[in-house]
Amino acid sequence: MTRTLLVRIAAGTLLVAGCWIAYTQNQGKTPPALTLNKVKDDLYEIEGDGGNVAVYITSEGVILVDDKFEWDFDNIMAKVKSVTSQPVKYVFSTHHHSDHTGGNVKFLPTAEIISTANARVNIVEHKQPNAPANLAPARVVFNEECSVFLGGKEVRARYFGRGHTNGDAIIYFPALRTIHTGDLMAGATPLIDYAGGGSLKAWTQTLDGALQLDFDTVIPGHGPVTNKAGLIAYRNNIEKLRDRATGLIREGRSQEEVGKVMIAEFGWAPNGMQIAWSLPGMMAELK
Ligand SMILES: [Zn+2]
Repeated sequence: MTRTLLVRIAAGTLLVAGCWIAYTQNQGKTPPALTLNKVKDDLYEIEGDGGNVAVYITSEGVILVDDKFEWDFDNIMAKVKSVTSQPVKYVFSTHHHSDHTGGNVKFLPTAEIISTANARVNIVEHKQPNAPANLAPARVVFNEECSVFLGGKEVRARYFGRGHTNGDAIIYFPALRTIHTGDLMAGATPLIDYAGGGSLKAWTQTLDGALQLDFDTVIPGHGPVTNKAGLIAYRNNIEKLRDRATGLIREGRSQEEVGKVMIAEFGWAPNGMQIAWSLPGMMAELK
């Protein structure tokens, strides 16, 4: 493993861990500044704090993917207004976590929120223990596929199976050959939320389904915009992690020993989210 890759993995781990920590530590403070990047034509993405937000501009309104934390709402809207005067009409949620859906409560009065049926259930049943009490679920849900047609453009959401959670949608912009993966790709190493229905076994199959789509550009759940090769590399690293962990578990290694290998070889943060949320579930799933 190259030094650059190790640094990138470490940075990615901090980034994913950081977005979770942000919610509990930053209440009452000023929300952090966000950055807007152009992806293609009428498609932008907003990075900083929480999950990446996609902004798709049409002549009949704006379609967002994810809306970060509740306190990011004003900063998200300022970025949207810097590139269009159109109102936000739809928000696709990639999954239920509050760093992707926290803004729902602010968007619901004027926009339609759409998620998988499972993502809605996960919010209604409070499957994320550190989520705010006012986290608001989508009013419109789907099981396999759902499209919004607006201003002559289409945004298509697809459910390919379990991975980060049991309700992760891939959001596809067919005309721009671009996808938003939610946290099916986030940072450098996967966070499997077993309490939210996640599965390390299913994750690679789920990404293999998404890889059948015709696309060249990838907006991940967290981290910089990448391409299809970047997603394939991420998928292959999950397979490597899964096979390594499966081997150790079937040799009879303890949870602590498996955790040490994940930290040393896959860039997991000691005492980070993966140790707390993923490791116990992995020990059970990969037996
Ligand atoms: Zn997530």
